[in-house]
Amino acid sequence: MVAFFIFLSRRMNSSGGGAGGIFSVGKSKAQLFDKTTSDMKVTFKDVAGLDGAKQEVEEIVSFLRNPSRYTELGGKIPKGALLVGPPGTGKTLLAKAVAGEADVPFFSMSGSDFVEMFVGVGASRVRDLFRQAKEKAPCIIFIDEIDAVGRARGRNPNMGANDERENTLNQLLTEMDGFGSNSGVIILGATNRADILDKALLRAGRFDRQIHVELPDLHERIDIFKVHLRPIKIDEHLDIDFLARQTPGFSGADIANVCNEAALIAARKGKKAVEKQDFIDAVDRIVGGLERKTKLTTISEKKSIAYHEAGHATVSWMLQFANPLVKVTIVPRGEALGAAWYLPEERKLTTQEHMLDQICATLGGRAAEELFFGSPSTGALNDLEQVTKQAYAMVAYYGMSDKLPNVSYYDSSGSYEFGFSKPYSDTTADLIDAESKRIISEQFERAKKILTANTQGHHQLALQLIEREVIYTEDMEHIFGKRPWTSRADELMSELEVTDQPVADVKTTNTDETKPAEENPSIDQTTNNEIA
Ligand code: ATP
Repeated sequence: MVAFFIFLSRRMNSSGGGAGGIFSVGKSKAQLFDKTTSDMKVTFKDVAGLDGAKQEVEEIVSFLRNPSRYTELGGKIPKGALLVGPPGTGKTLLAKAVAGEADVPFFSMSGSDFVEMFVGVGASRVRDLFRQAKEKAPCIIFIDEIDAVGRARGRNPNMGANDERENTLNQLLTEMDGFGSNSGVIILGATNRADILDKALLRAGRFDRQIHVELPDLHERIDIFKVHLRPIKIDEHLDIDFLARQTPGFSGADIANVCNEAALIAARKGKKAVEKQDFIDAVDRIVGGLERKTKLTTISEKKSIAYHEAGHATVSWMLQFANPLVKVTIVPRGEALGAAWYLPEERKLTTQEHMLDQICATLGGRAAEELFFGSPSTGALNDLEQVTKQAYAMVAYYGMSDKLPNVSYYDSSGSYEFGFSKPYSDTTADLIDAESKRIISEQFERAKKILTANTQGHHQLALQLIEREVIYTEDMEHIFGKRPWTSRADELMSELEVTDQPVADVKTTNTDETKPAEENPSIDQTTNNEIA
């Protein structure tokens, strides 16, 4: 009996893996990476782009390696840094690189690891984590997805406040900047939602620095591609610039996915190296979904889809600020029956002209239906949703309408602190509605005018679409002539070529339209007439 009792109590007490027995439930679950035990192989070389963020975290590593350099001048080592940014942009990767490069112990855990079904466990885990860290100081603690514990505390405990989480947060707050000293322990946090974090957590003295990790721009995407193409056997003519241009708005994780998907597609086809077409297929698949092989469309349905898509293509071709077209297809993919693929320009600043051109191009499909079939179809649902949101945003957020100039009802804090969900009068609401409708109907008329002026080309395009199902930029150029405008991506690339060495000189087939084009008077004339 005694032996059995001892055995039982040992089993309950066992702390293998942290969560072992019931008595070790309050122990922290942090994983420790040490330079002796660690198999962490990620270094700053594996993190492409993110120069600003990289510099900040490199500085933290250098603080820990050589603190006297900073303290001699009277500076203090920062207590913590918060990595903030959209999903998949490399926050965890950056923290891993810090672990790989810093010569100090690195504790890593996720915000949700603090939470358990027992009351008081979270706070006790925080205490345990900091106790361990202080023993090993100087060291770094990394808490991923910190919003799981760091969410703002509620005001009214009866209204959904979570006592256990709040206790954990309170403990974290006191450990980070309380009476006890924790010099030499730097806390790195990562989150997608800095806006919902408690204000006390964000103040200087706890997280002194917020490091913003944004979606990569064109140049950074080229670097990220280079990192992820390292292990892949690629065709020697592959143009990395082209890949970066095809993937606007993609995060680092998406790019890693494209590379992997392209390798799988090439393997499925039994190729020896991954080629450009495999990457294009991978991007198409990730953006548009799986191609649907079963085509249950009648001839008249196909015709209607072709005229709709050709409408988008024609109108956008004629507008200076519409995104450059890559291809038009009537092959069903995912939810869509057909699609016009553009390369978004990734502008940092969007002007009124850009937004109006964008709305006009999006309405091109519905305008074509009305002009050539007389009755609208449900196929334009997506377009209309997008256009309505854009028009309302122009009026209510960007102050871009004549009747409501320079006012914005946008709330960047995202908090309804004073309970205003609609901070304007009913008269203003009527004005917002009227102005948005005016913008949409004006652009719709403009789209119809452009299509009427280019009926010949539009018909030709629609017929080619019905016949071939996919139309590329070159085919558009045959019909309408070159676009006389240079795209923003091209301007950026030419800057890059001046400052950097060229990556490859193979030119792509379907972005030629975006090359600096010669003046084309006939198109220019038509376009000017239409825009006027
Ligand atoms: P989440 O907020 O969803 O946790 P995250 O920002 O922490 O996302 P990571 O886990 O760091 O994202 O990134 C996921 C993957 O994306 C990485 O493993 C890496 O392969 C790739 N990746 C992201 N950014 C970069 C980059 N700048 N350079 C190289 N690879 C990157």
